[in-house]
Amino acid sequence: MLSLEEARERMLKCFEPLAAERVAVASAAGRFLAEPVVAPVDLPGFDNSAMDGYAVRAADVAAAKADSPVELKLVGATAAGEVFGGSVEQGTCVRVFTGSALPAGADAVVMQEDTRAAATDPDAVLVLDAAKPWENVRFRGEDVKRGATVLAAGERISAVRAGLLAALGLDSVAVRSQPVVGLLATGSELLEPGQALSPGKIFESNRVTLAPLLTKAGAGPRVFSLVRDTLEGTRGALEEAFAKSDAVVTTGGVSVGELDFVKAAFESLGGKMEFWKVAIRPGKPFVFGRLGGKFLFGLPGNPVSAVVTFLVLVRPALLRWQGAAQMDLPSHPGALAEPLANPGDRRHFMRVRADERGAVWPAGAQASHLLSSLSQANGLVEVPPKTVWPAGTPVAVLRIED
Ligand code: AMP
Ligand code: MG
Repeated sequence: MLSLEEARERMLKCFEPLAAERVAVASAAGRFLAEPVVAPVDLPGFDNSAMDGYAVRAADVAAAKADSPVELKLVGATAAGEVFGGSVEQGTCVRVFTGSALPAGADAVVMQEDTRAAATDPDAVLVLDAAKPWENVRFRGEDVKRGATVLAAGERISAVRAGLLAALGLDSVAVRSQPVVGLLATGSELLEPGQALSPGKIFESNRVTLAPLLTKAGAGPRVFSLVRDTLEGTRGALEEAFAKSDAVVTTGGVSVGELDFVKAAFESLGGKMEFWKVAIRPGKPFVFGRLGGKFLFGLPGNPVSAVVTFLVLVRPALLRWQGAAQMDLPSHPGALAEPLANPGDRRHFMRVRADERGAVWPAGAQASHLLSSLSQANGLVEVPPKTVWPAGTPVAVLRIED
């Protein structure tokens, strides 16, 4: 049986980054950059005021104190968005606001709170505190220098990164295309939620779980109807899903039972199985195959197995396909608040709940059909085979994106 590392390696080498396309920055969040982003301008683009106040010459107000203010002549005002036409000469000041371009001649801004109006002269300002040279001035290029690489190829565009691109004046950006991934749930026992339950049947839950996980991984899910456990039915469903998608995720029907038809149906369509079974718990029967330039991810049907195999095997492949530089689940350090034991002979991804200080508890029972304990978990801890970890053991918590 393949180790998780071998399985991942064999999968990842099948995925070349998809084609690049240009998209609007306004809708680029979540996408992966196809090329580095080089700043076309300085940010800020000009020296400007960090405060509402008065642009001054620092030397003029070096001796200012509350009980011995310095009086300056007010020679103008410049709102944010304007440029002052004149310059600040000795003994004068200009009214400025946060973001106003620094008037020529000024080398500091005195904040409004450190000034007061002169009692007699409406065109004079009393400065109550000294300003150091360049105090309250935001410098051109101090955030980003023109020509600097602000984001590398393969980085994901977050909300804030989209904001950075916009601040640099960019309205479109080159990103990798997103794969369309068909989603099939197999099992003659499955009913759509909302249908009347009948004896022996269960409500199908994997597609509604996996569709948003696919979206989070950058793929466009395409959800298909339930698939009965027959060879013909499974074959027909796979054929349709492959025709309409770049890859297909199935759940169920990959174990050893005689009613598990996913592998046989896939091969009868000309699909080539790359591997079946990975030495992990839950999720051992995972299948990976290729059909032309398309891919099959065959997940086990148990809901927890489907999620775990998605997170540790399918998600990295989808990210690599989109050119992502970083494919591992985000993880953070923690310490066990209670023992965790894996008596089995496969590494076990155990559901845990980690608090904000890094204390880690098991999130209930661990069998692979128990969706409620997974719903309470916010992470997975990988426990090696035949291992008992006492309370206090430091662990890496893989964060479940949900
Ligand atoms: P299988 O992998 O087809 O052998 O299914 C393993 C277990 O998962 C069985 O108890 C199935 O009834 C259950 N199961 C399979 N598919 C789903 C699904 N889509 N939603 C909920 N449970 C499922
Ligand atoms: Mg089944």
